[in-house]
Amino acid sequence: MGEAQADGRTAVRALLAPVRGRIRLAVALQALGSALLLSPVITGTVLARMLLDDPGDDRVWAVLMTGAGLLSAGIMCRGLADLVAHLADNSFTLWVRRRLVERLSEAPLAWFTDTTAGRVKQGAQDDVKALHHLVAHSFTGLTAAVVTPLAVYAYLFAVDWRLALVMLLPLAAFAALYAAVMRDSMAEMDRYGRALAAISSAVVEFADGIGVVKSFGEAGRASRAYRAAVERFTSFFLGWAGPMIRPETLANQVIGPVALLMLTMGAGTGFVAAGWSDPVSVLAFALVGLGLSAPIGTLMVDLQSMQTSRAAAERLVALLDAPVMPSPSEPGAPEGTRIAVSGVSFGYDPAAPVLRGIDWSFEPGTVTAIVGESGSGKSTLAGLLLRTADPDEGTIALGGTPLQRIDGGALYSRVGAVFQDARLLRTSVAENIALADPTAGRARIERAARAARIHERIMQLPRGYDSVCGEDAAFSGGEAQRVCIARALLLDPAVLILDEPTASADAEAEHEIQSALSSLLTPDRTVIVVAHRLTTVSGADRIIVLDGGRIAEHGTHTELLTRDGVYRRLWDAQRTADGVTS
Ligand code: ADP
Ligand code: MG
Repeated sequence: MGEAQADGRTAVRALLAPVRGRIRLAVALQALGSALLLSPVITGTVLARMLLDDPGDDRVWAVLMTGAGLLSAGIMCRGLADLVAHLADNSFTLWVRRRLVERLSEAPLAWFTDTTAGRVKQGAQDDVKALHHLVAHSFTGLTAAVVTPLAVYAYLFAVDWRLALVMLLPLAAFAALYAAVMRDSMAEMDRYGRALAAISSAVVEFADGIGVVKSFGEAGRASRAYRAAVERFTSFFLGWAGPMIRPETLANQVIGPVALLMLTMGAGTGFVAAGWSDPVSVLAFALVGLGLSAPIGTLMVDLQSMQTSRAAAERLVALLDAPVMPSPSEPGAPEGTRIAVSGVSFGYDPAAPVLRGIDWSFEPGTVTAIVGESGSGKSTLAGLLLRTADPDEGTIALGGTPLQRIDGGALYSRVGAVFQDARLLRTSVAENIALADPTAGRARIERAARAARIHERIMQLPRGYDSVCGEDAAFSGGEAQRVCIARALLLDPAVLILDEPTASADAEAEHEIQSALSSLLTPDRTVIVVAHRLTTVSGADRIIVLDGGRIAEHGTHTELLTRDGVYRRLWDAQRTADGVTS
C-alpha cells in the first residue's frame, strides 16, 4: 500500500514535470492570496481596538486604506493563481493528449486488444479529465485549505494564545471523529466490494440466460436470485453507511460556524469575566474563527480528488509506456510483391515465443495456405506480414525492403487483409467500404460491393449506402464479412491476407463469402489464406503447416497427404468429424 502510494506520487510527479514551474507559481500566489484575504477581519479588530481606545484616532483612515489595499492584493493574487493554474492545465492537457496520440500511433497493432482499447478510451477521456481537475483546481484548492486555517491560527495565537488553544479543541475533535469514520469505512470496504460483485454477477447471469430462462418459464426464479442479491446489498449498505453518516455529520458540525461561534462566545465570556482577555479580542476570535470551517471542509474533498488523480496519472503513465514501433526515418520503396520471411521468431511475451525460426517466401501470383491446429500461430504469422508487430528475431521483407523501412501508407496500399472478426466503423456503409481510399467515388464503391456480393443487401437498407453501421444498418456476421471483402476489393491490393474469413459463418453465409472471395483471387495477386478447414485450401499452390510455432511441413495437398505427418493427421481427424469414411 505504502509502496503503491509512493509509485503513484512518482507517476504524478513525472507526468506533471513540464508544468511544475507554473504549478509552483500558482501555489505560491494562492498561499499569499489566502493569507491576505484575512485582512478585512484583522483590519476590523484593529479598528475596533483603536476606536475603543480613542474615538478620535486619526490613524483610522490609514488602517482602513491599508486593509483595503491588502484585500485587493489578496483578491488579485488568488485571481492570478487561478489564471496560472488554468494556463498550466491548458498546455498540460494538450501535451498529454499529443503524447498519447504520438505514442499510440507508434504502438504495434498487436498491442491493441479489447483490454488496451478500453484503457486507451479511459486514458484519453476520463484520466485526462481527472488530471485537468488536479492541475487547474486541486493544487490551488488544497493550498487555500491549508494556508487559511494556518493563517487564522497564527493570528489567533498572536491575539490571545490561551483562547487560541481553546479554539484548537474543535479541530482536534474533528480530526478524531474523521479518523474513526475512515477506519470503520476501510474495514467494511472489502465487504462493500464483495456485495457489489455479487449483484453484478447476478445481473450478468440473469441477462446471459434470459433466453433460456424465458423459454423454460423460470423467469420468476432467476429474477428472484437477482432481487435477493440486491436486497442483501441494500441492507448491507444501509447497515454500513448509516452509522457512518452520523459521525460524519457530527464531524462536520463540530467545525461548523454555529459550533465555532458558540464556543468562542462561551469561552470568550468566561475569559473576559476571569480577566484573562478583553471583549475586542473575543470579537476578533468570533470573526476570524468563522473562517475556519469552510477550508477544512474542502480540505477533505481536495485530498480525495488528489487520490483520484493520482490513480489516473498512474494509468496514463502506463499508457504512455506502450511499446513503440517507430515509423521509418528513411522509408524505402518495395520493388515487387514477394514477401520474404527469414529466421522470424516472435512472442507477445518475448519469454514465450509463439513463432520460432520461420523461413518462407510468399511468391507473387500464388495462393499460399497457412494451416495448423488452433493456437499454432497462424494468425500471428499473418499479422506480422501486416506489421502488427515487429519480430523479435529475423526479418520480413516486402519486395526486398524490410517492413520496418516501409512507410505505413505504402505498406497498406500493397497489402490488404480480411480478418475473422469483421470490424465495421460506426459510419456510413459507403465510408466503411472506402476506408482505405476516401477519395473513391460511389461508382467504385458499388463495383466493389457488387463483386463482394453485398450490393443487393445494402440497397435494402433504409438509406442504402448512406445507412450508418450500428444505427440503421444492421449486418449479420456473414454480411459484415462481405462488407470487409468489398473494402479489400476496393483497395485492390497486390498482396491479400485472409485470416479464416468464413470461420464464424453458417453454411449458407459461408457459401456466399466463398463466392465473394473468389473475386479476390485473381491470377496476378499474391494470396495468403489462413484456414482451419483443410477442404477450403486443398487447391492452394503451397500449403504450410504450423505446429507449435514452427513450420512442420509444406507442400501441395497431395504431397502432404502422402507424407503421413501433421497435415495427414489433421485431414483424417476432420474427415472423421465430418462423418466421411474412407
Ligand atoms: P492461431 O491463429 O493458429 O489459432 P494465434 O496466432 O492466434 O493462433 O495464437 C498463437 C498463440 O499466441 C496462442 O497461444 C495465443 O493464445 C497467443 N496470442 C494470440 N494473440 C495474442 C495477443 N494479442 N496477446 C497475447 N497472446 C496472444
Ligand atoms: Mg487464428
